[in-house]
Amino acid sequence: MLVTMRLSALFTVLCLVHPDPAWATARSSASGTSAAAPGRGEAPLNSTHANASVLACSALEGTFPTKLWVPGQANYTAENQHFWSPTDYASPLCVLTPSSASDVSTAVRILSRLKAKFAVRGGGHMPIPGYANINGGVLIALSDLGQLALANDSSYVSVGPGRRWEEVYAYLQPYGLIALGGRVGLVGVPGLLLGGGISFYSNQYGFAADNVIAYQVVLASGAIVTATASAYADLFWALKGGGNSFGIVTRFDLLTYSSPSICAGIMEYAGDQQQPFLAAVANFGQYGSADTKAAVIPSIFMLGALNTTVYTTALFYDTTANCSQPALSNFTALPAIANSYASTTLAAYVAGTDALIGDGTRQEFRVISSLATAAALQVVHDTFVQMVLDHIWDVDGIQASVAFQPVTSHFIQQGIAHGGNPQAVDVASAPYFWMVENFSWNSAADDAKIHAFALNVTSVIDAQLSAVGAKARYQYMNDAGSGQAIFQNYGAGNLAKLKAIRARYDPAKVYTDLMPGGWKVDLA
Ligand SMILES: Cc1cc2nc3c(=O)[nH]c(=O)nc-3n(C[C@H](O)[C@H](O)[C@H](O)COP(=O)(O)OP(=O)(O)OC[C@H]3O[C@@H](n4cnc5c(N)ncnc54)[C@H](O)[C@@H]3O)c2cc1C
Repeated sequence: MLVTMRLSALFTVLCLVHPDPAWATARSSASGTSAAAPGRGEAPLNSTHANASVLACSALEGTFPTKLWVPGQANYTAENQHFWSPTDYASPLCVLTPSSASDVSTAVRILSRLKAKFAVRGGGHMPIPGYANINGGVLIALSDLGQLALANDSSYVSVGPGRRWEEVYAYLQPYGLIALGGRVGLVGVPGLLLGGGISFYSNQYGFAADNVIAYQVVLASGAIVTATASAYADLFWALKGGGNSFGIVTRFDLLTYSSPSICAGIMEYAGDQQQPFLAAVANFGQYGSADTKAAVIPSIFMLGALNTTVYTTALFYDTTANCSQPALSNFTALPAIANSYASTTLAAYVAGTDALIGDGTRQEFRVISSLATAAALQVVHDTFVQMVLDHIWDVDGIQASVAFQPVTSHFIQQGIAHGGNPQAVDVASAPYFWMVENFSWNSAADDAKIHAFALNVTSVIDAQLSAVGAKARYQYMNDAGSGQAIFQNYGAGNLAKLKAIRARYDPAKVYTDLMPGGWKVDLA
């Protein structure tokens, strides 16, 4: 019952809140005054840049008459609102939907020559305003780069950046194969891979990006290159977690693994199960490496409308056999108010959960990183719950959660085994909890309040974790909020290496200055 009510609260109607700027007006009065007001975290476009945007949209329209969309057109609206959170809707002057790497290359050459600002959007699931959209500039929406092709020997699958993980899993299912990607199928392929990517299979095989064997990339020069462990090897390494500072990826080749069926589902527990639940999470955090086929996503879930807090976990086990697995028994033994854990396939599991997750509710993420100790869990739990109740419980539509993502030593070691990655997470201090706080609410009027609260609760918890000696350094880019230190916490001095690679492949800083949205190594 509670599950039904909670999930129905997730179905929110898309709010169409942004008036479209008139492309024709912008084009005729290239004064720059038509550029829309920036959102939080976005720099305003000055008149020079606005002029450049008008010229760029005009040039792109001439080159791509059937792939360039302007305000008032249905495709413009659909692409501009192809985001998980309405906080990401903006007012680009025009939207380009390239359908090949060659199109992307031509577009980058035009934008670079005209010094026009632009943004790149994959699946649109990074909820930081301005990270994958732009006011007054050009939005390159990758929706039509939809390649999906299994290699002749089935060892890898080539995937275009317009794909979502549910499509990749559904494509591979008839072959009994999987690739490492999102645990929610609606999430886009490119953003997840460029930040690392935590998969249900990460305890076995590492970050999703550790399992990429080739990236086709459009460089700032417009050149299209394929980066592998042996060609453009520095770029290949940088793309495994360096974000969008290096190029636009137009194809990912992903290792495949046999996993014809799995056990997966969600268990939900009432508030009185808090202590045994946290004990089960702590135990999995400590001993998760012992059985690498198991994965969990335990969460505190607070729902203002029902004035309630529940505990949930996704349970996962990579097996075609028995779902009763000792590694998960601390969770399955608890009395649950809902339980869908059963034999299924990855494609079927994500299709089922995707159907319950709607777009359209305002969202904010923030990360907390700790050693995998029971004390750390208790600190995060107690402080988060109390501060939400004290400060934002009255916000319209508020839902607040913390997902405790256990990260095992085996997970980290897989990155090393696959050739290393820029994150270089310290394996000596593993295991960890990489936690993501998620706030969702209804009204734009509450954006500032939620953002301020997210900053505050995170800094209070970070200080408390430091006080109990449980704070960990690495913070996961894809779950982070604006201003959190990401590349600064990569290990082995890798930030300097990333900056040098950025300078080598993009000396004019096209993907840093002209494409300002996203996590930038140069700004860290
Ligand atoms: C409901 C939900 C579930 C999630 N589950 C998981 C999970 O299981 N595991 C996990 O690791 N993360 C998860 N995440 C986080 C997710 O990995 C990030 O939000 C990720 O950025 C989403 O990728 P995207 O393509 O949808 O993002 P977008 O918002 O489209 O892009 C994110 C960033 O990548 C850049 N970018 C996109 N495509 C390209 C490209 N082709 N070339 C260069 N730059 C590009 C954009 O400019 C932007 O800065 C989840 C997020 C949500 C909202």
